[in-house]
Amino acid sequence: MARIVMKFGGTSMAGMERIRAVAERVRREVEAGNEVAVVVSAMAGETDRLVQMCREAAPLYDPREYDVVVASGEQVTSGLLAITLQGMGVKARSYMGWQLPIRASGHVSALIETIDVSVLDRAFAAGGVAVIPGFQGVTGDNELATLGRGGSDTSAVALAVAMKADRCDIYTDVDGVYTTDPRIVPRAAKIDIITYEEMLELASVGAKVLQTRSVGLAMRFNMPLQVLSSFEDRPGTIIAGEEAVEERNMERNIITGIAHDLNEARITLRGLPDRPGAVAAIFRPLAAANINVDMIVQSVARAGEPSDLTFTVPTASLPETVAELEKVRQEAGFADILTDTDVVKISAVGVGMRSNAGIAAKMFDTLAERGINLLAITTSEIKVSVLIPEAYTELAVRVLHTAFGLDQERAA
Ligand code: ASP
Ligand code: MG
Repeated sequence: MARIVMKFGGTSMAGMERIRAVAERVRREVEAGNEVAVVVSAMAGETDRLVQMCREAAPLYDPREYDVVVASGEQVTSGLLAITLQGMGVKARSYMGWQLPIRASGHVSALIETIDVSVLDRAFAAGGVAVIPGFQGVTGDNELATLGRGGSDTSAVALAVAMKADRCDIYTDVDGVYTTDPRIVPRAAKIDIITYEEMLELASVGAKVLQTRSVGLAMRFNMPLQVLSSFEDRPGTIIAGEEAVEERNMERNIITGIAHDLNEARITLRGLPDRPGAVAAIFRPLAAANINVDMIVQSVARAGEPSDLTFTVPTASLPETVAELEKVRQEAGFADILTDTDVVKISAVGVGMRSNAGIAAKMFDTLAERGINLLAITTSEIKVSVLIPEAYTELAVRVLHTAFGLDQERAA
């Protein structure tokens, strides 16, 4: 017997036919003798619709009332699933966030504080299934709170941690996490098992699959996750701690996946004076404005001569970044600001890098052979990233996927 959380996303809950298919899956787990809590999303598109109506009601809507409106999508699906399960003879009932409670602080993108699972323990002891709406909690003042878009994944992981589940299964419309975007590389392979850290680094490949915040939470509490399709009966991708991953797969590839991120903009400041404090004067206001600076490159200048400084920020932050930089132009003393949004960050990710030298060199060689110019480079213990012109995105991802041995063997 295992204790599991099953989480179903919006596409899995879109309409009664699909809800019945979900109920079938839940029933199978219950009949196998497991204690099951189900966390559900609103039907696909429903949360967008509710958000839109809040905006129509008033562009500067009250966050408290926004939460009251948008939490309703999950209330509908959890009730419908409980009714459907009951119709199949499964003892099930729904528990709204306030009925446990799931304590959270803030509105619109509230943070979970604690979850009381004593109600669930009693339900399981009596052989029942609990259906819980994702995305919602209740504040200390007993107000409804929602957890931010995509927050049902976080609800599921937090609940799994609180009820000491053996694992948290995330059912979605894809069958797992891939070595890269299969639309770019048709020979991308489904990853059987991956570490939390790698999953976080592969966010651009995996973010549509799982809310990043939920992966961070699972990592903190070492809760194994499994991403799998709610439409097919196939094992998905397991996301777990490094020890568990190594146990299952002792000789894994050094590189686990290739990610690309188009959401980066490059800024170059030309003619930066060579003096203490010049760089600090640039990044201080950006930090104060909460702008996330990612890659940073300062060109090697001869002592005393002005140099260039290149860095990247999220594309959406570019206008604000330029405005902040204009304010410190005098103090920092640079001559020009150049910007470029036609860039992409390509990353090779894998925990195997820790014990293998030469990964960065291999990456640079592979790209150089194709005449691809590198605009910036960053590395971490488990990742090498390069910034290149956007036009080379597909080529770069493809050749790196091949070079690092990730291409899937075609069935003969
Ligand atoms: N229904 C919410 C959303 O669409 C939460 C979720 O599904 O994860 O953002
Ligand atoms: Mg989702």
